[in-house]
Amino acid sequence: MSDPRQYQFDLPSDSRPPHANLDEEWYPGIQQTWEKSTTRRIYDPIFGVRAIVIHATAGSSSEGAVSVMRAGKASFHWLVPDEDEAQHGQFVWACAPEARAAWHVRNAVSHPGVWAGRKKINHFSLGVEVVNRATASDAFSHWQMAMTARIVRYAWAKYPNLRHVVSHARLDPERRTDPGAHFPWEDFKNHVLTGADDPIGALIAATTNANDIDPSREDLCPACAWQPTLV
Ligand SMILES: [Zn+2]
Repeated sequence: MSDPRQYQFDLPSDSRPPHANLDEEWYPGIQQTWEKSTTRRIYDPIFGVRAIVIHATAGSSSEGAVSVMRAGKASFHWLVPDEDEAQHGQFVWACAPEARAAWHVRNAVSHPGVWAGRKKINHFSLGVEVVNRATASDAFSHWQMAMTARIVRYAWAKYPNLRHVVSHARLDPERRTDPGAHFPWEDFKNHVLTGADDPIGALIAATTNANDIDPSREDLCPACAWQPTLV
């Protein structure tokens, strides 16, 4: 069984995605509450983003996770719905503006592999919560894993200094185990690094196939040469 305290990989700067695409919707009513559970970042909101932290809620619903935000106790940027929720398979919830520091990691903790051990990780990170009961019987769905990877690629494309993808358990091993031993970390890592399940990446790849069109075909207008690849 995998150990969530070991979950980390770094994003290679030479394969940063050229595009950012994410199906996200504001959680209903969250725009009226995010201000009281987020803080102005002490670093530049673009160049200062160095890490993205993967969490699991240990609860059964998106609403349960958001109630913590409404209470002003904790916060996160995105929430990935569980498989028994209507939004599963459709989109993820946006819960706080990325430009704000959300409260998802204790200020006192750090890890030497994450921006050389700096504390106040919330100020240089983004937080993703995946809705999961954290029990052996509640598996993470493929869609949840793939959308979590999509969020990371979206952020990777937007934030030039984003390097570290890390679990909450690695940052705070004495208090936290999320996203847990059942989170498919290796699959997730492969999806992030390869762009598998990324529809825009697939469309771009299909478009570049236009270069491979057989030049001997006389019925092709050069300006429309891409069309046969869509048949
Ligand atoms: Zn967590």
